[in-house]
Amino acid sequence: MTAPARAPMSGKAIAHSQFDRAANLINLESYLRRILLAPFREVQVEVPVRMDDGHIEVFTGYRIQHNGARGPCKGGIRYHPEADHDEVLGLATIMTWKTALMDIPFGGAKGGVQVDPKLLSQLELERLTRRFTQRIAIVLGPYRDIPAPDVNTNAQVMAWILDEYSNRQGYTPAVVTGKPLSLGGSLGREEATGRGVMYVMAEYARDFGIPLKGSRVVIQGFGNVGGHLARLLDTEAGAKVIAVSDVNGGIVNESGLDIPGLLAHAAQKQPVSEWKDGRAITNDELWEIPCDWLVPCALGGVITRERNARSIDCKVVVEGANEPTTPTADSILEERGIPVIPDFLANAGGVTVSYYEWAQNLQQYRWTHEQVNKELKATITKAYTTVRDLAKQKAATFRTAAYAIALQRVAEAERLRGN
Ligand code: GLU
Repeated sequence: MTAPARAPMSGKAIAHSQFDRAANLINLESYLRRILLAPFREVQVEVPVRMDDGHIEVFTGYRIQHNGARGPCKGGIRYHPEADHDEVLGLATIMTWKTALMDIPFGGAKGGVQVDPKLLSQLELERLTRRFTQRIAIVLGPYRDIPAPDVNTNAQVMAWILDEYSNRQGYTPAVVTGKPLSLGGSLGREEATGRGVMYVMAEYARDFGIPLKGSRVVIQGFGNVGGHLARLLDTEAGAKVIAVSDVNGGIVNESGLDIPGLLAHAAQKQPVSEWKDGRAITNDELWEIPCDWLVPCALGGVITRERNARSIDCKVVVEGANEPTTPTADSILEERGIPVIPDFLANAGGVTVSYYEWAQNLQQYRWTHEQVNKELKATITKAYTTVRDLAKQKAATFRTAAYAIALQRVAEAERLRGN
């Protein structure tokens, strides 16, 4: 992942300014604006962890449940030094719109611990996860709030959460998604976010005449989302991934990178910039490479007015990450005629397959990988089509149209539940 220059606007502020545009578009009542702007419930905990040398460090953690009108709150847990209250709240809010847009029966939540996990040993990471789970377990549950992986967390972290929760409540696989397969995880969950991004790109490609096959793609970030996306674009869509980056820098090859080779190289913890078959570039240079698709797949706040909104040289920006574009940068891209496929449409494949995983756990029945992919494609394509049609009808951006659809659905659930 590329370390971003700190965005001038917080995650919360980004979510709010985008909310207003969509709320105006659907004439949302003021009491619902108030309810939907604020979180339903916020939990902040201090998490003491015994480090390997015997001393105790204390970390701050959050679980913020933004809205649960349409179903149990749902969203990942990230471990990152910048995972503060505002960032987690902004991301929890996005999850409400994401699950509503996909029309899956969940609300939105997010969790975070302010920690740099690269500085922890595996045992310290496990103790941190267990202690954090103990402190937030009271607000979790298969019908209450269901965590999943996010930045710097993975299936192993979910396994510890499952174990810690189940030790108290009895075996409860549906309390968490993105688990290892052997603990009730779903086939296809790990690649689901990247796969969903590809499905959305394929639909957009057809509608707007930028055939994916042979088109040039630049991907910022080569972690779970960027790595799987690169692989799928290369093997299934026949696209040419010409540049990728990680936290240390990037690599470019105009004739298309050897993605299987690069993935094997990155799996050995080698920086992508040291890959033999391309030219090393800095993280700033990556943004200016002429391409058809520019896909940020790392942290938020990386496309900004100061940094790159005027110099980006692509046909479409596809938000694989959550909140990669600041609102000011978003307006600049709009002025420049560069469309943006928003995060809560483009990267919703992860939470969509989380829904299938949860459903499989409750059914105590395993789906095949083909079935998961087929359902994912149908769900995300339907959401895409609804957004595309409304954007056209209202002459709005994809982001505003997507917000309007999501807001409408959540508002309807709120009205029906009454007060
Ligand atoms: N962390 C992912 C996201 O931001 C997945 C959330 C989930 O599966 O609950 O969408």
